[in-house]
Amino acid sequence: MNSILTAAHRIFINTFIEEFSRGPIVLIIDNVPGWCRRHNIEEYNPSRTARAFRVQQNGKGVILLASLITPPMRRSVEVFIERSGYPEEVKALREDRNFLQHLVLHEIAHLNYDWGEEEETLCDKWAFEMMGIPRRSSVACIVPIEERSG
Ligand SMILES: [Zn+2]
Repeated sequence: MNSILTAAHRIFINTFIEEFSRGPIVLIIDNVPGWCRRHNIEEYNPSRTARAFRVQQNGKGVILLASLITPPMRRSVEVFIERSGYPEEVKALREDRNFLQHLVLHEIAHLNYDWGEEEETLCDKWAFEMMGIPRRSSVACIVPIEERSG
């Protein structure tokens, strides 16, 4: 599993931002939880890789992306997706660009549908669907999901 330098994929990211979203601001930053703390946004996951929110004053969508996504960060995201009920589909995300695409689509889903942090499974499902990755894991696979912020 590689580290991903997010900015190196900016043009790729922009293609599906344009296709699937309603024009959020995308910020590539050093440290997502640190940025959130500095801007009074609650964030408890120290390995947080991406996050979406709306600016209170104008409702504008913002997507934060970590500038360097390390293997432990990738693994952390994968574990959450596995627990969401997608242990088979997640294997496609070992490819760097697939990982990035799912990560960003997940955050776009939060903004497009106003799905909150309790709707992680829906966001993962939508992201896989938009990528054309077919459902393969057993639908009956229900694992209790602990507090997740991803
Ligand atoms: Zn999420």
